Amino acid sequence: MNAIRTRKKSVWSWNLARRPAGGPKGGVGDVVPRLTSEQDMRNPAFQRTLKKTVEFAGVGLHSGEACRVVLTPASADAGIVFQRTDLAAPDNVIAAIPENVACANHGTTLTNEAGVSVATVEHLMAALALTGVDNVTVDIDGPEIPILDGSAAAFVTEIAQAGLSELRSRRRPLVITETERVADGERSIKVEPHAGRLVEIEIDFGDCLIGRQALCLDLDDPAVIARLASARTFCRLNEVEALRAAGLIRGGALSNGIVVDGDRVLNEEPLRDPAEFALHKALDLIGDLYLLGGPVIGRIHAVKPGHDLNTRAALYLKQAQAETRQPARATA
Ligand SMILES: [Zn+2]
Repeated sequence: MNAIRTRKKSVWSWNLARRPAGGPKGGVGDVVPRLTSEQDMRNPAFQRTLKKTVEFAGVGLHSGEACRVVLTPASADAGIVFQRTDLAAPDNVIAAIPENVACANHGTTLTNEAGVSVATVEHLMAALALTGVDNVTVDIDGPEIPILDGSAAAFVTEIAQAGLSELRSRRRPLVITETERVADGERSIKVEPHAGRLVEIEIDFGDCLIGRQALCLDLDDPAVIARLASARTFCRLNEVEALRAAGLIRGGALSNGIVVDGDRVLNEEPLRDPAEFALHKALDLIGDLYLLGGPVIGRIHAVKPGHDLNTRAALYLKQAQAETRQPARATA
């Protein structure tokens, strides 16, 4: 069942199903969340949180440290808040907001004013965006969100199984009313007014199998959400040594990311989607932009995006929105 069913407005749930016969095969990629809603999830009027707690455990991609994560329901307007349970309160609380991005080098790290960090938040953030969770407390007993299989599939699946409950406060989507563009050389992110949620993405790794990929993704389509959720992170084999030398990917393995060597994939599991690389870049973008605290209603066009540009775009859009909302100053 792929389609959204619209029924009563106050209740909704998710169904999970395997890929239809004939779809891409292989490992965890076979289990992809197929989302069926009892309510139109495209632009729900009210905020949501989880119905019950959800737990994950695994190693961090960059730190290699084992961490346990517990997602707990939160009240309306609480937003997404990380809490380092291995450190003492109150300095262990880190809000998921663009202002707290401290590092966006091969992953997004949030740091609070006390200098306490949580790393590689983007796939969990993307899962919360894709499932429409506005408010949640994320308890974590270490420095980095587990990489799991390198995708957001497990996060989306578990959140979907837990279910969501609607809160009494209205959502605050960021509605794009003007064209804005953030660029860094040939990389760019442009947003334009549009009635729905569209993500257009272009990537170019012309020197290897990945090649050029361009996608237009309608986030209001449950099948698109399933493709995004199952797309794994990736790197090229010739980058691995440099990343290791930089103290990164200590937890990296073929079980938690695609490694491309020239014109071949080194993983035993085949690609889950012909466009898995572009889909993963879109997933990262969606996760980073969810630091805005709600869905972006508009058309997002990203050319060769990365965490640095994504998080800069999030901060820029937040500041632009704040300026728009400021009352006009009275002239003397
Ligand atoms: Zn990623």
